[in-house]
Amino acid sequence: MSFDLVLFGGTGDLAWRKLMPALFQAFRHGSLPAGGRILGVARDALDDSQYRALIRSRFNEVELAKRPSPEEFDRFAAMLHFLRMDLSQPQDYQRLADKLRERNADIVVMYLATAPSLFTVACEQLAAAGLNTENTRLVLEKPLGHDLASNRAINETVRSVLSEKQIFRIDHYLGKPSVQNLFALRFGNALFEPLWRRETIANIQITIAEDLGVEKRGAFYDSTGALRDMVQNHALQLLCALAMEPPINAHADAIRDEKLKVLRSLKPWTPQALGPDVIRGQYMSGKMGGEIVPGYRDEPGVNPQSMTETFVALRAEIANWRWAGVPFYIRTGKRLAARDARIVVNFRPAPHAIFHSPLGAANRLIIHLQPKDGLELHLLAQGQDNRQARSAQSLTPVHLDLDFDKRFGSERVGAYERLLLDVIDGRLNLFVRSDEQEEAWRWVEPIMESWRNDPSGPRPYAAGTWGPSAASAMIARDGHCWNEEC
Ligand code: NAP
Repeated sequence: MSFDLVLFGGTGDLAWRKLMPALFQAFRHGSLPAGGRILGVARDALDDSQYRALIRSRFNEVELAKRPSPEEFDRFAAMLHFLRMDLSQPQDYQRLADKLRERNADIVVMYLATAPSLFTVACEQLAAAGLNTENTRLVLEKPLGHDLASNRAINETVRSVLSEKQIFRIDHYLGKPSVQNLFALRFGNALFEPLWRRETIANIQITIAEDLGVEKRGAFYDSTGALRDMVQNHALQLLCALAMEPPINAHADAIRDEKLKVLRSLKPWTPQALGPDVIRGQYMSGKMGGEIVPGYRDEPGVNPQSMTETFVALRAEIANWRWAGVPFYIRTGKRLAARDARIVVNFRPAPHAIFHSPLGAANRLIIHLQPKDGLELHLLAQGQDNRQARSAQSLTPVHLDLDFDKRFGSERVGAYERLLLDVIDGRLNLFVRSDEQEEAWRWVEPIMESWRNDPSGPRPYAAGTWGPSAASAMIARDGHCWNEEC
């Protein structure tokens, strides 16, 4: 099968930091179908050899194990080509059409790794140039809009030129091996399913913590914020994977139908809940790794009076029979104490205590997403075999630890590699349908609205901490605590 992968934004940050390394890994693993061409597109005046030299130089920034040898790069680079094109100029699309007609590949993937403001014009002009054929697959990067109306507008344009099965909306969290293992844990094993409900689960916590600040993306981040950047997409997709009913099969729509039901079951926000149940924060200067790091408002590209949130913690509830009354806590932020993405499923304590256990001890399943990829099952055991412990019948917390990197090797297929191969193969399971996206926007919109009308702004927190103390107070109100505080 021959393919053309057109990488709009082929010289941008996403292309050289994520997509090119992922494509190279797929090439190295022998998974890229032979007969492929990767066509970088941007406004720069580059020819093929200059583009290859640019990509080669960028590989010096990739971690050593994932860097090609000179011979490997030469073989990979034979696939790389470049087309100068301005996406806002209708006449440029004809040159793209001519270039694609040179080969008439079986599959043409159009990857829009450019600013979302170009999505609509790109779709309209691709269609005007006759490039929306049955062989076309379109990949859209987040953020797909900045609210429900803009998301709908983009989706309507895209759907007017291509069918839903040709549209691949990326949420790269779904491509992570750890998230696929979450699906495997729930729907490939019968062990947890009887326990996966309100009768046995006290609360679920989703934490996506970054230790980095906004780096070089200050201007982008300042117009986006943590709610749009992380909660509306990644965190809600994780929540769906945790809370959905078992799908009838592993086909894309069976899975997406069940995720959609979860999003529709999220308890809508009331004005009374928005204050206590949603906490926003913004990082100040603080100490990280022994060094003082600047506060958010002092980062390059950020408005010095910015009210953009770099931290969100919220309490969600799912109004259905399985989950009624179980709080799902979501927390994400930049410049937090550690880079750590994990899901913690806290089970209820044993209904009748015949042993002495440490205060608050109960079973807990921790699903590590990043940087570690694995599972920890926390149990209580009779550990100390001394007389006092035996007579007190006291239990000690212990845990079973499954490290997927150790078990399967750390050379596993990365998120973007997996997703790019799925696009070429036409597999939609790990991509988000438009109705899911719209439902997620609908749910977060009242939060955005309430913040717009609240002049108090985000709560400050010192870089290197776990965010504003109000986030701990929010969860403590229910008698729970964040995993690292318990
Ligand atoms: P970027 O570094 O600013 O790159 C933008 C790319 O688009 C460049 O190659 C630029 O090249 C090209 N471009 C801009 N205007 C163009 C036009 N009119 N016609 C043709 N090409 C044009 O942005 P990025 O960080 O790669 O982000 C791209 C998209 O991915 C954004 O939607 C972003 O939100 C999303 N995203 C990025 C990341 C990330 O880690 N970077 C992660 C997730 C999602 P020229 O200026 O030379 O034309």
